[in-house]
Amino acid sequence: MVKINENFLTMKKNYLFIDIAKRLKKYTEENPDKQIIKMGIGDVTLPLAPVVVEAMKKGADELGKKETFKGYEDSGTGYDFLKDAIAGYYKSFGVSLNSSEIRVNDGAKSDCGNIVDIFGDDNVILVTDPAYPVYVDSNTMAGRKIIYADSNEENGFAAMPDKSVHADIIYLCSPNNPTGSVYTKAQLKEWVDYALEQGSIIIFDAAYEAFITDPELPRSIFCIEGAKKCAIEMCSLSKTAGFTGTRCGYTVIPDELTVTASDGSEVSISQLWSRRQGSKFNGVSYPVQCAAAAVFTPEGQKQTREAIAYYQRNAKLMAETLDDLGIKYTGGINSPYIWLKCPNNMGSWEFFDYLLNNIQVVGTPGEGFGKNGAGWFRLTAFGTYENTAEAMKRLKELLRK
Ligand code: PLP
Repeated sequence: MVKINENFLTMKKNYLFIDIAKRLKKYTEENPDKQIIKMGIGDVTLPLAPVVVEAMKKGADELGKKETFKGYEDSGTGYDFLKDAIAGYYKSFGVSLNSSEIRVNDGAKSDCGNIVDIFGDDNVILVTDPAYPVYVDSNTMAGRKIIYADSNEENGFAAMPDKSVHADIIYLCSPNNPTGSVYTKAQLKEWVDYALEQGSIIIFDAAYEAFITDPELPRSIFCIEGAKKCAIEMCSLSKTAGFTGTRCGYTVIPDELTVTASDGSEVSISQLWSRRQGSKFNGVSYPVQCAAAAVFTPEGQKQTREAIAYYQRNAKLMAETLDDLGIKYTGGINSPYIWLKCPNNMGSWEFFDYLLNNIQVVGTPGEGFGKNGAGWFRLTAFGTYENTAEAMKRLKELLRK
């Protein structure tokens, strides 16, 4: 008889955004004339930059000619032209990487989930709460012990390490989804020191690094001394350059990152990951890699920065509205997310329904990201400016009453 992975039975039946979509569908069916503004799912709304589209077309054209056709990519880890471009980008904020340390993928979510393959199931996993769901879900599927570090109002939604508690694998995300908080260099140094002391590995999710405007804030964990001995970084072009539907990201595994196996041998994490990928992943399509490389050209940077500035303008408007209403929040600066305290002590699903029913604005209930999200709510700045302005107008009218 077939046996399923019973760890799935311990999980909530639906992924958070499926629950939201269901409520939304019911509301739309019952209220077909209402104009809903979606500020829930963190998907972008602006199109790809022209320079990116051109590069993708050129890549596709090359595949259509005998002389330039390409089949499987030899390494499956990304073409050198893209890995060199990414290494050059890291250099621009002071991080030196070998191209071989960069692995191109089809988005950060895949690697955030897949990385569990190379670590034993008896590791203790530490996740900050609230968190982007894939860290908890992928480890729950593998039946691992997960412990939590609280991110809450008291610590400004920046969970810090507790030296009296041991963890083997630590997931950190900065700028954070959902809270929009960003670790300072000093705070990240504490995490790196903790990991080095405990012999742990940090999986650092930098999917929103491009939204950091304060030059003092670290855009990569590798800005921190010692991190190459204890960290893996995952990043994505989804929010940086509108690749949510195009799919391209990258994972950085430093050459010097090793772990001692039970037989005493020193094992390279990079080699383990290569072995895993060699068996289970055949690389990212050539036109998409061409498009991704275009993001890192001077013109690509200029054009994609314009889109980021557009979303930042939305975030500023949202932050000003909440300031005006006297509502507490984190994020909005150096982040496309605003994490606000539900007014009048409402629960986060209660506030979700309140906004949907009264002003047809959809956000994400904080509780969906972990227990510390109770009473908090996430709004994204990825909408159009017009919709954001309209949503903020409606919010002001509703909450001023
Ligand atoms: N990491 C974080 C924190 C995210 O919020 C997201 C997407 O919303 C991802 C990773 C995954 O991005 P993608 O798979 O589109 O690269």
